[in-house]
Formats: sequence, C-alpha cells, structure tokens
Amino acid sequence: MALDLEAIYVDLHKHPELSFQETRTAGVIAEKLGELGIPFEEGVGKTGVVATVTSSEGPVVWLRADMDALPVPEQTGLPYASTARGTDPAGNDVPVMHACGHDMHVTCLLGALERLVATKDEWSGTIVAVFQPAEEHGAGSKAMIADGVLERHPRPDVVLGQHVTPLPAGVFGVRPGTQMAASDGLTVTLLGRGGHGSRPHATIDPVVMAAATIMRLQTIVSREVDPRDVAVVTVGSVHAGLKNNIIPAEATLELSLRYPDDEARARVLEKVERIVRAEAQASGADDEPVIVTDHTLPPTINDPAATARVVSALAARFGTDSVVDPGMFTGSEDVSWFARESGAPLVFWFWGGVDPAAFAAAQAAGTLERDIPTNHSPLFAPLIHPTIENGVEALVVTAREFLD
Ligand code: ZN
Ligand code: ZN
Repeated sequence: MALDLEAIYVDLHKHPELSFQETRTAGVIAEKLGELGIPFEEGVGKTGVVATVTSSEGPVVWLRADMDALPVPEQTGLPYASTARGTDPAGNDVPVMHACGHDMHVTCLLGALERLVATKDEWSGTIVAVFQPAEEHGAGSKAMIADGVLERHPRPDVVLGQHVTPLPAGVFGVRPGTQMAASDGLTVTLLGRGGHGSRPHATIDPVVMAAATIMRLQTIVSREVDPRDVAVVTVGSVHAGLKNNIIPAEATLELSLRYPDDEARARVLEKVERIVRAEAQASGADDEPVIVTDHTLPPTINDPAATARVVSALAARFGTDSVVDPGMFTGSEDVSWFARESGAPLVFWFWGGVDPAAFAAAQAAGTLERDIPTNHSPLFAPLIHPTIENGVEALVVTAREFLD
C-alpha cells in the first residue's frame, strides 16, 4: 500500500519534538520503513534512524533529512497547527512547533525511498537514508558520527540534503561553493570588581566594560572585514547586575558569529578575542575575560562538480528557470559534518514552499520580509502541495543522477 505522505506530514506537524527528543518521530519513520520493507537501524546518535537500500554494485548516495522542531508557539491558524509542549534543555516547559519545516524533510525522504525502492532494478548502487536528530542544536550529525554511523553503514560517495524555504513553490535554490555560513556561538564573561553604586571609583564596572565591548565588536564587520566579504557579529544576549545601586562583579555576553569559510572564521575569532581582552584591559580589570565556545558549525560548501550534476538533474525535471542561485545564506547547518568526516562531496539545496502568487505579490509590493514568513517564524507554513511532491521528486532525480 502506498504511503499517504500528506497524512504523514500532518501527523508529524501536529507532534513536533525538540532536539534529541525525537522519539515519536523516529517511531513514525521506523513504522513507515517497515511498511516499505526497508532495513533500518534506530537510536543512532540517540534518536537518529538510518535506512539502507541496496540494488547492486555501484555508488553510495546518502540522503539526509533532519527531524527536530523548535521552541516556538505556532500562530499559523492552520487546522493541523501544533499545540504541543516540550521540555527544553534548561528544564523549562515550552511550546513546540515545526517552524523550520523538518517535518517536510522527513516526509519527502520517506516518499523518495518509496519511489526508489519501487524502481530498484532501474538503478545500481546503495542509498543510505539518514534521519538526523538535533540539527537545531548543531549537534545531531556529530552525535551520529560519534555513534559510528560512518563505520556501520556504507560510506558515502556523495551526500545530498535539502531544506524547505520561503522561495516560491517550484523554485530550487542551489549554488556551488559556500551555500550556508559557518557559525560559532560564544559566551564571553567580563570580570570586574563589584561594589556600592555610590562608589564607582572603588569598583571595576563590568556594565560599562560590556557596553564598550559590544560597541567595539560592531567595528569588526564595519571597519575590519573587506566590504566584499560576508561576516556577521551579533551580540544576542547581555546580562549583568540585579539592582540599581549595586555594581555587579561580572557581565555575560552571548555572541553569534557567521562567516563563509574557515579562513574568515579564524580572522573574525582573532578580532573578537583581541577586542574583548583589550576592552577589559582598558577598564583596568584585574582578571582576563573568559571566552567559551558553545558550538561550532562548519560552512556548508557545495562541491562544484557534484552541484553541477544536481543542477542539471533538477533543471531537466523542473525546467532551467526553476533552478536559481540563491546566494550564500548566513544561516548554518550541521549536514556537512557527514561529508567532511567521510571526505565525500556535499550538495545541499533549498526548495520553495510558498504560494507563487503570494510570493509574486509581496515581491512586487516590496514586502517580502514582512509578508512571507521565514523559517523559525511562528507563522512559517509551507504549502502541503506541491511542496511534498517537489521535495520527493528532487530527492529522486538527484539520487538517480548519481545511481543511474
Ligand atoms: Zn532551523
Ligand atoms: Zn532547518
């Protein structure tokens, strides 16, 4: 019996799960793989699922879909909107929503497997379908690798993945080279000396130190990075003090940094460290600031030769005008660890899930940013059709490009 992909999508959408908690999702995947008669391994990297379909001797193509949802309260008003709650890593009860569309990714990979199994005698090689947990924590692919996914399953000759985005339905965005930025999350603790708010001369004020540091960090992109290059330095969180008449002993900044490649990463990190330490020194601090890297995501770099094959496969199926270069996205992904660790080429593309008429109207009015909800928005809502059909088809034709 054929898989009911719409029913699978709606079910996953109604039951989103936070990173590394995707147990129900993994159960749905296991059930459907069982129906398709595809052997699989569960519990890879905690909640990941890996399925393998072998036809005959030939290349190994990895198809990757991420499974996790986000702590976002859904506001789409859709009949299948999520009302789910979850517990975040800090123990807080939070709303949960598939606000990044990973439910669409899982659905399409199941649909593609169904098609590829049914046509097994038309192609040769092996397909490894990787249902990955915890992309939103940037930790799921590393967890699967640490758990031995590259040792227990055929190593890839190419790694393929896709992400649903607010492009018009029917449009695919892919480019050779850097497709998504590298990213680091840093926590910087500025150490001062606390005291009475009326006696600032007896203290080293970390609030003023933090303010100066935040402003000076903005000059990295505006004054130190070549205007032709891309970099982002965001201070997304700043915490210090509890009361107006107490000068606190420390301040904490949380930084999100983005860059296109490893060289730019090294340069920006060096500048951040230089400024943080220099501002502490300028404040007369006795103690060096403490800089901790919370997470690191590599750049998502599409292999030029493999990308050319993906572009031609998508163009042959959907039309040349349907495949565009979307430019580099400053968001980040952890899919490329699979390629980096195995030495295989990677191709990661975006596909559109927005009503083309609504997209064209917003574009004409110059209100794309306001009117078309993006990933992570509480209003993010890909069209079910034809997004599922296009996502399935894209995986099938690109996999076949390497397997035929
Ligand atoms: Zn996301
Ligand atoms: Zn995502």
